[in-house]
Amino acid sequence: MEKHILIDRSEAVKRFRPIAKDSHKGLQGHALIVGGSYGKMGSVCLSAKACLKSGAGLVTAYIPKCGYDVVQSVVPEAMVLTDDYNEHITSVNHKLSLQAIGFGMGMGQDLDTHQAMFHFLKMNSVPLVIDADGLNILSENKEWLEILPKQTILTPHVKELERLIGHWDSKLEMLENVKTFAAKYDVIVVVKGAPTLIVSKNVIYENTTGNQALATAGSGDVLTGIITGLSAQHYAPADAAILGVYVHGLTADLAVPETGHHAFIASDIIHYLGKAFL
Ligand code: AMP
Ligand code: MG
Repeated sequence: MEKHILIDRSEAVKRFRPIAKDSHKGLQGHALIVGGSYGKMGSVCLSAKACLKSGAGLVTAYIPKCGYDVVQSVVPEAMVLTDDYNEHITSVNHKLSLQAIGFGMGMGQDLDTHQAMFHFLKMNSVPLVIDADGLNILSENKEWLEILPKQTILTPHVKELERLIGHWDSKLEMLENVKTFAAKYDVIVVVKGAPTLIVSKNVIYENTTGNQALATAGSGDVLTGIITGLSAQHYAPADAAILGVYVHGLTADLAVPETGHHAFIASDIIHYLGKAFL
């Protein structure tokens, strides 16, 4: 029997864990944010910053060389590793001990980047959140779905979802297809929209926070950072997705009385994260 659960304040609060008084950055988890390409380094900055502002102890960004100065300047709290190539990612080489990885924002879809993603997926066993071009590359290589770590979180908006699971004619059909897809590959699918749905096994969670102020560039990159940050702190994948989506939406609800819908931008999501977590 399928369950449909509204993510309201009580569903979020029961998953939220305060940070222990004696915690330290090593215990708060190390997250890797993999993405960016020439002209799209902002996506990584937003994701890395949101990841830190969601409680991750350490964040490293893995980016093409051209983004080095940008990310080091915009997010001084993050460490940076660069690809050998200047303009896009051609391999994902690191020796870090990681608790979570956010993958794909602003990454582009160069063939070298396809190769890099394939080799990365073959080697990786760290909890993973895949977004944006990571999803688009996956859609062109659906056989790679078989090698994702169990309970990988995929965060498509509707267009990305259609590339991944194919066309649907009704919302009901879409939900059936996402459920089948999530069960087949043992993944969690965050169907971003108004409202955002989270499909995990036979449960559909429907978020109750958020508004049209979130319809702005970089909004999804911030969400990936938040969910990756929670995953790094050992939240179970479904809980990281549920709490992340709730808090992301809540920032916009808290901000709108001050910013209105028009002036709210993705950096404001990050700015209001503190209030939302409180
Ligand atoms: P992306 O398209 O990847 O930047 O992701 C957009 C983010 O903003 C997702 O989390 C959406 O759920 C959210 N969003 C966009 N438009 C709306 C809206 N009209 N109401 C609520 N959330 C929205
Ligand atoms: Mg996006």
